[in-house]
Amino acid sequence: MNLWEKNIRKVVPYIPGEQPNKSSVIKLNTNENPYPPAPGVRKAKRDFDTDLLKRYPDPENTVLVKALEEYYRLDEGQVFVGVGSDDVLAMAFMTFFNAEKPILFPDVTYSFYPVWAELFKIPYETQRLDENYRLVPEDYHQENGGIIFPNPNAPTGIYEPLDRIEDILKQNQDVIVIIDEAYIDFGGESALPLLNKYDNLLIVQTFSKSRSMAGMRIGYAMGSKQLIKALNDVKYSFNSYTMNQTALYLGVEAIKDDEYFKKTIERIVATREEAKHRLKALGFHCLDSKTNFIFATHPDREASELYEALKTADIYVRHFKAPRTKNYLRISIGTDQEMEQLYDFLERLLDEK
Ligand code: PMP
Repeated sequence: MNLWEKNIRKVVPYIPGEQPNKSSVIKLNTNENPYPPAPGVRKAKRDFDTDLLKRYPDPENTVLVKALEEYYRLDEGQVFVGVGSDDVLAMAFMTFFNAEKPILFPDVTYSFYPVWAELFKIPYETQRLDENYRLVPEDYHQENGGIIFPNPNAPTGIYEPLDRIEDILKQNQDVIVIIDEAYIDFGGESALPLLNKYDNLLIVQTFSKSRSMAGMRIGYAMGSKQLIKALNDVKYSFNSYTMNQTALYLGVEAIKDDEYFKKTIERIVATREEAKHRLKALGFHCLDSKTNFIFATHPDREASELYEALKTADIYVRHFKAPRTKNYLRISIGTDQEMEQLYDFLERLLDEK
């Protein structure tokens, strides 16, 4: 071993979902939106003045920040944007979780949280979801260095009503509480109204799911001016030009077309509700998702076996190997046609034995 090797930071990285390099696959593994971005985004992309690329982008990301502040009726200085919500969340871990006490998050949740905690050397403790994969608010009534959880949760898809969220906030006014609302547009009620009451609350959302722009990488945080300033201070100390010029402009276009946004969500929600019935008819047990994916388990078949069989048929879903998730498949909601192909394949597969 070379001596310099001991100076290398050792991390067990987050494993992103597969992005197979074939167009023929039915891709239900990374919770992308099966529909294209709003038509205005396509037009803005076509009309984009590439001369703009010779300059650095606006480090304050003004056009996009303003568009989001107006859309959510927030004051100036209440929005922070980043390169996908992963970038925003990483920045938030770095900015807000600096206590010696452990931060808290659920045992079954977004698997990036422990990775950031390890990377930034933040102590953490996980709190067990109950047997129905529900969050237990009382578990967060203990001393801690900060709290983070997604609502709806991933990969379960379960939404916790706002009174349960507020219970956690009430008990934790001396630490920062981050709610990761990556999937909130698919049926939950955002904690946004609670921002007026709790200046220690940070809400993180993304353009990757409900706005069909995973490839553009846009995420954002909403909170009190104090929290947003703290995030910006860390950002400027790390990389001041995070957002590229195209992302800023195309992001604004996506926000403008609310009708398209709502229509796309409606289609996905309808397909999701149908998927619950169809998967149940095939013998699956599905958690009650309020997201654009379904977490499903089959009493007679190993999830890993189903995952592999689906993959050989070029149908990609996600399978996690942790003890409480290994019997489940996480299936993103595709178009109705893609879902029909999934049901057909599963029906034939389950008939085989
Ligand atoms: N939070 C949760 C709960 C997620 O599932 C994801 C998607 N992997 C993200 C955040 C990050 O999404 P993005 O970086 O594309 O905004």
